Amino acid sequence: MSQTADAVVIGGGVNGASIIYALAARGVNAVLVEKGALASGASGRSSALVRMHYTNEWDARLARASFPVFKNWTELMGGPGVFTRSGFVNVVAPEFAERLRLNVEMLKGLGVNTTAITAAELHGGQVACARRSVSISTRGRRPSTPWP
Ligand SMILES: Cc1cc2nc3c(=O)[nH]c(=O)nc-3n(C[C@H](O)[C@H](O)[C@H](O)COP(=O)(O)OP(=O)(O)OC[C@H]3O[C@@H](n4cnc5c(N)ncnc54)[C@H](O)[C@@H]3O)c2cc1C
Repeated sequence: MSQTADAVVIGGGVNGASIIYALAARGVNAVLVEKGALASGASGRSSALVRMHYTNEWDARLARASFPVFKNWTELMGGPGVFTRSGFVNVVAPEFAERLRLNVEMLKGLGVNTTAITAAELHGGQVACARRSVSISTRGRRPSTPWP
């Protein structure tokens, strides 16, 4: 292993691996240091769900910006594709409906293909959720919270 580098990345999770890839692609003399094995932390335990529905705008921006990497994995990284496109439904309680609507508007403003619908519309079968993100306001007993 080289003893000097222009950049040292500590941690071989998805973030460290992404950073070292980006540095190497730009010709930077960089080294990644991992105390255990690659992906031995949270990255190795991830459910591997890729989504753009975040309540935090910056998380959503980051997810949207990284989406082409997953979508074009073979062309960019080589090897078999790692991404299967599906749909995503986020269900919230009625009291969070307005926050959800604002959240969805924010996401749309970033170019995320998403929409907010009611529980009745979901039950009415008006949703083709494959390949898009759908959020609904319903009376489920264990809703998620659409705001940090
Ligand atoms: C059960 C579970 C499911 C998840 N599901 C999803 C999902 O579906 N979708 C999603 O987007 N996110 C998911 N996440 C979150 C996601 O996995 C993490 O946000 C992401 O993996 C964090 O990556 P990281 O590189 O920052 O950290 P890590 O993957 O934890 O990597 C940190 C690395 O740094 C190393 N390290 C630490 N200290 C040192 C040191 N001093 N010297 C050298 N190396 C060191 C560790 O050994 C580790 O390998 C999930 C997380 C968990 C736990």
